[in-house]
Amino acid sequence: MTGTDKTREQLLKENEQLKETIIALEKTVSDSGHYSILQEENLRSIFDNMGDVYYQLDKNGIIISASPAAVSLYKYDSLDDIIGRHVSDFVYDPDKNEKLIEELYRKKFIRNYPIVHKRKDGEQITVEANSTALFDDKGELAGVVGVLHDITDRKQAERELKKLTTAVEQSANTIVITDIDGNIEYTNPKFTDLTGYTASEALGQNPRVLNAGTQPEEYYEEMWKTISQGKIWKGEFHNKSKEGRLFWENVTISPIKDEKGCIINYLAVKEDITEKKAAEQALKLSEDRFRGLFEKSGDPILIIENGKFTDCNQATIDILGYGSKEDIINSHPVKISPEIQSDGRSSIPKADELMKIALEKGTHRFEWEHKKSDGVIFPVEVLLTAILNDSNKKILHVVWRDITVRKKAELNLVAALEMAKESDQLKSAFLANMSHEIRTPMNGILGFSELLKEPGLSGDEKNNYISVIEQSGNRMLNTINDLIEMSKLEAGQMYVSITEVNVRKQLEYIYNFFKPEVDKNGLQFSLSTNTSGSDISIKTDKEKLYGILTNLVKNAIKYTNEGSIIFGCKVKDYSIEFFVEDTGIGIPQDQQITVFERFIQVDMTKTRSYEGAGLGLAITKANVELLGGKIWVESKEGKGSTFYFTIPS
Ligand code: ADP
Repeated sequence: MTGTDKTREQLLKENEQLKETIIALEKTVSDSGHYSILQEENLRSIFDNMGDVYYQLDKNGIIISASPAAVSLYKYDSLDDIIGRHVSDFVYDPDKNEKLIEELYRKKFIRNYPIVHKRKDGEQITVEANSTALFDDKGELAGVVGVLHDITDRKQAERELKKLTTAVEQSANTIVITDIDGNIEYTNPKFTDLTGYTASEALGQNPRVLNAGTQPEEYYEEMWKTISQGKIWKGEFHNKSKEGRLFWENVTISPIKDEKGCIINYLAVKEDITEKKAAEQALKLSEDRFRGLFEKSGDPILIIENGKFTDCNQATIDILGYGSKEDIINSHPVKISPEIQSDGRSSIPKADELMKIALEKGTHRFEWEHKKSDGVIFPVEVLLTAILNDSNKKILHVVWRDITVRKKAELNLVAALEMAKESDQLKSAFLANMSHEIRTPMNGILGFSELLKEPGLSGDEKNNYISVIEQSGNRMLNTINDLIEMSKLEAGQMYVSITEVNVRKQLEYIYNFFKPEVDKNGLQFSLSTNTSGSDISIKTDKEKLYGILTNLVKNAIKYTNEGSIIFGCKVKDYSIEFFVEDTGIGIPQDQQITVFERFIQVDMTKTRSYEGAGLGLAITKANVELLGGKIWVESKEGKGSTFYFTIPS
């Protein structure tokens, strides 16, 4: 089907005729004398070989003639395939084609009209149409004749150019094109931003107007030498803007060559690196400064990479007592630590763990123990800080401080605190005891003195009251004596007077003195010495020995409700060991040392029923020590106690 009422043969024939017509037409033109005479064969060959497509449509839009170029342009097999088809088979956008035809009607011709056509395989091509409408005698459209020029490549090139132009215009880099003498032909907007010169101000100028004048002339000569030899040059320019602001640019200049290889232009692509340069400068400065601080710091500073020391300063070497850096670097941090830390943990896993924490958290502070080259171990406070090295890898910056003094101060502080707490407790205990120990006998004295005033008292009653007043007075005197003795001991104002003392006599004297009281309380009382019969004598302070024994026996009586009290001595190698044993209430294990401290009474609530200020044993201990001996107790709660003390013989 050709879509027309003419046969294919007819159309092809007409095509031939058309060729004849064109030839005749050209002939006429040349005959008119304007052109040299063209031979008929020449014209034929032009028609057959012309790159553009010649075509003719009939009034219905059927292609009735086309030059051979149509075959290759539209990718058909032969002209036979094309002639007889409707023009719409070649049109890509029918609407656009309608417009073209309307225009043809109106203007009779169109010139350089771009329109998109399609090939046999559907591929788009852009052609430029130059067409003329043919009309018959009645003024009706008889057909169209014209030439189509393939501008697909040109369009493509235009599009590419547009893309490139946009890229250049919007580039964050400065782009400058100069002619071969270096005069500016083109600058992009970034150039204006940076230099302050508008494109038109820059046009025709030599880029050296930007030269800040700080780089040597040879630098530019070298650049020119390179690019004029057709090679690419890369470097940095120190430039000055129109307003005089200085800036640095990283520059690449490429020669642009024509197809023959001749340089026709130079293309300079430049990046503003002022800030980068300033940052580099600052970094270098701070690096130098850091190095200085690192080396000169009085505190030891080390660097750890991959779990090993890679650097350390002089302070580290000096403090640890090593000869040089090499002794420390390349080793694991435990090289300068004892095997075991103060908390009992092995240094290696603990160090690895702490380094890991620092790398994760960014920084980590902790206490550690270090070891000097001579083996001395000392406490330090370590601060690990993760920093990035040149290759962006996390490394550790280590600073440590010797905290021996601080640790000691801390320990002293803890001890002082303990003492303060203790003396606070002691003060409370003292006040409680004292008020009891003073108020109780005082109440006795005042109460019975009042009773004595009653008229008509019998002699017995009076004697009874007076005896209570006496006892109370004695009890108060005892307390006051104890207090005075204690404070003298504390102030170091107790002196000893040494005489020859017959121990056996002393013990018997005490036995006889307390016997009536013990009997009254219904207790057994006995004296025991392993040297019965013979006298033991020592050189000591008789009064104090008497005081010590008296105190212990008094306590035994006081804290024993039933059973027995045995006291005596054993002769030892270099001393005499005295003992006072009872079957009384006993002293709990945890109190057996503290009972010798001032004002201490075992469980105040329990012993409250017993009188006493809690000073007795403290005085006894102080006196034993004054005499060069020791005192201790062995006791079981509820079973009884044995107090021992020694006096050197
Ligand atoms: P106090 O004046 O209270 O007796 P001491 O200094 O003589 O003070 O004794 C301190 C504490 O030791 C007593 O309060 C008592 O709790 C305990 N103690 C002393 N001797 C004995 C003992 N023989 N049996 C049981 N507890 C005793």
